[in-house]
Formats: sequence, structure tokens, C-alpha cells
Amino acid sequence: MKDSYLHKGLRKRLVETLRKKGISDDDVLDAISVLPRHFFLDKAFEEIAYQDKPFPIGNEQTISQPYTVAYQTQLLGIKKRDKILEIGTGSGYQAAILAILGARVFTIERQEDLYRKTRQLLDDIGLGRIRCYYRDGYKGLPEFAPFDGIIVTAGAEEVPEALLNQLAVGGKLIIPVGGDGQEMFRYTKEEDGGFKAEKLAECRFVPFLKGKNPSKS
Ligand code: SAH
Repeated sequence: MKDSYLHKGLRKRLVETLRKKGISDDDVLDAISVLPRHFFLDKAFEEIAYQDKPFPIGNEQTISQPYTVAYQTQLLGIKKRDKILEIGTGSGYQAAILAILGARVFTIERQEDLYRKTRQLLDDIGLGRIRCYYRDGYKGLPEFAPFDGIIVTAGAEEVPEALLNQLAVGGKLIIPVGGDGQEMFRYTKEEDGGFKAEKLAECRFVPFLKGKNPSKS
């Protein structure tokens, strides 16, 4: 894996695009400017990896658009050492951004093939320990709860109770909710055990599916 001046320049342009589209958190933008997105894509995408677009990563899944990664990450408002759970590891790009921001990252993927491939990639890139699990994200990761933040990177038909239950007080769940198209929601757990719900922008994600999908091989 090689990162060149050309790639760095393209990332700078991408960061400017994201700023123009309304991303204002400098820590998030800095993370995007240091992380080589082309590492997370097939060689065929190397030239276009810094376009603000989602791309296929196999198993009918996509790496999220950089704007979406930046937007969801900004909504989390991460502090160093925060414990963050990501649902939908996919390419690993979002998990890597969280790690660069200093979070303790836990990530779950339901496709065994992707889980294996991405766990290896994240190890090779070496951003420190990102804990990857082959699980059904609907159930979260109860043995490591509570989390300061949970970020769902697939479109959910409903908000899983299990995920709300795994938030710390003050913790936030960022989740796209809806069928074909979704709306981003942020749930914040309050002191009295209740939740504040905020409905945010419209978005479009691959579906949040129930159960695990083992490798065919
Ligand atoms: N965060 C990813 C985006 C991947 S797309 C990235 O940065 O590349 C969404 C991912 O969610 C897919 O890999 C899909 O397999 C996964 N997914 C869908 N339903 C899931 C579930 N119930 N549990 C865990 N992962 C799930």
C-alpha cells in the first residue's frame, strides 16, 4: 500500500469539498486529510478514491461517501478515549477515522467475508487496536457496553432497543432510519434514563439486515 503526494493533494481537495458542503469539525476534517481512502478500495478505484462518492466493496456493500462519514462522525462529537461502537464495518474506513480521532473502537460486521478481509486490512494499516467482531449488529455488543457513542452505517427500518440500551448517560446513537431512503436520527441518553431524539438530514444507505451471513467458501 502506497500513499503518494498525488493522493495527499486529492485528499486536500476532498476536505475542501466537505467544508463547502457544511462539515465544520476540524478534527474530523483532519482525520479525513490523513487517512488514505484508496487503501480501503480495490486497486481499480485508486484514481477515483477521493471523489465524494460511495463505491462498491464486494458482497453487495459499499464504502460510505466521505461526506456521510464526516457528517455521522461530526454528530458523534468524539472525545479522546471515548468508547465507540460501529455497526457495519464494511471497508473499515469509518472505523479507521474513529481510531484516528482517538476513540476506542469496536466494530461489528454481519458478512463473514468482509469481516475477515477488513480485520486483516485494519491490522496491516496499524492504527492501533480496532476490535472487529463477526456478529449481528441488531444485538450490539452487550459485554462491552455502555458506549459513549454508537454509529450505525446501514439503513435501519426501526431503532434497535438493544443499541439504545447499550448507551452510557450522555452517549449518542447515530442511525439512519427508514426503508428505501432514510433520515438520520441522533438519540442522546439522558440522566433520567430517557432519550432525546433529533431528526436530521435525509440520506441513503445499504440495508441494515438481520442475522449473520457466513462465507460460502
Ligand atoms: N462503515 C462502512 C460502510 C459499510 S456499508 C465503511 O466505512 O465502509 C454497511 C455495512 O453494514 C455492510 O458491510 C453490511 O454488511 C453491514 N451490515 C448490514 N446489516 C448489519 C448487521 N445487522 N450487523 C452488522 N453489520 C451489518
